[in-house]
Amino acid sequence: MKLIPLPAFADNYIWMLHDGKNALVVDPGEAQPVFDALQMEGLQLQGILVTHHHADHTEGIDALREASGAPVFGPARESMPEPINRMVNGDCVRILNLNFNVLDVPGHTAGHIAFYCPTAEGNPILFCGDTLFSAGCGRLFEGTASQMQTSLQLLAQLPGSTRVCCAHEYTMANLQFAMEVEPDNDRLISYHRDCQELRMRGLPTLPSNIALERQINPFLRLEKTSIVQSIGRFDPTGCLQNGAFATLRQWKNQYR
Ligand code: ZN
Ligand code: FE
Repeated sequence: MKLIPLPAFADNYIWMLHDGKNALVVDPGEAQPVFDALQMEGLQLQGILVTHHHADHTEGIDALREASGAPVFGPARESMPEPINRMVNGDCVRILNLNFNVLDVPGHTAGHIAFYCPTAEGNPILFCGDTLFSAGCGRLFEGTASQMQTSLQLLAQLPGSTRVCCAHEYTMANLQFAMEVEPDNDRLISYHRDCQELRMRGLPTLPSNIALERQINPFLRLEKTSIVQSIGRFDPTGCLQNGAFATLRQWKNQYR
């Protein structure tokens, strides 16, 4: 099985998983990068997974479905290009002989879902859309801070080896902010160096993995006193009134 991020727009990734013959894609905001990859590798599209309703994740769906007849699996409670199979928490999608468990992860949007495959050859795979980014998390467009925090805690409990397939290459900007929040985290500093190197060579920083995110992602590390203190210095009142997570998200929103 090959797991490949297809670049789309300025900083999106459309994840493709294939076995040399059959493929699935996740969040095709554009159809063309998928058509190109299918043609280049001689692949048949067997399924389309969608995490949430934003246009940069959905606009390629109609063209891909029309050309391939592949079924689309998306969130039950969001408006989607019909027809789609509406998935809720606990549902399971079987494609390429793999089972993908559907997890509710509201926060970025109200009905955002993620797909988790525990049995992928190699290590488990998580397609988390715009919920969890490497060293960061999605903006709160429709959900609350508390919903997002619960969603991230759920994802953080997955096995450490789980490959984290985020839908955007936001890692460098997130790391800049993470180092501001937690300047003395050595793992964060070495990961920043590794990612800088990858980006200089034009390579993706993803997939990340859950174990690494637990070590470097400030949004998963609020049990650390030093992080809460750092958030308290940024906005003492906000931290008391709205909590550390909401204030951290607010801080990131206005950072630079
Ligand atoms: Zn989005
Ligand atoms: Fe997006």
